[in-house]
Amino acid sequence: MTPERARQLLDDEEARLQKLADAEKERLTESLEDSTGELTAFDQHPADLGTETHDRELDESLRQSLDAELDAVRSARTRLEKGEYGLCKTCGMEIPDERLEAMPATRYCVEHQAQREDELGATRH
Ligand SMILES: [Zn+2]
Repeated sequence: MTPERARQLLDDEEARLQKLADAEKERLTESLEDSTGELTAFDQHPADLGTETHDRELDESLRQSLDAELDAVRSARTRLEKGEYGLCKTCGMEIPDERLEAMPATRYCVEHQAQREDELGATRH
């Protein structure tokens, strides 16, 4: 993986995530406006309000995961400048090109990504 190729991948990934984040923001704004209308029209149906709240929580977690991915892309860019891009954070081995092509912002090789997810799973709750 050349730095030029890596930069290209990170640019594409950032543009893709930014577009999703913008679309999500727009959708969230629209759904807030919609639900304000619904509050007046359907205020005899508290069950609908419960569903709305649930949807909004889903939106929020999607937005947060997009933010986290954008952060990951930015920190990958920093590593690229330092010449540390494409090396697994745990074992220091080069991450294969095909993995970087698919997930340009990844910090781990396949093995340590799995291990990290196990650790995260174990600490959750
Ligand atoms: Zn590794």
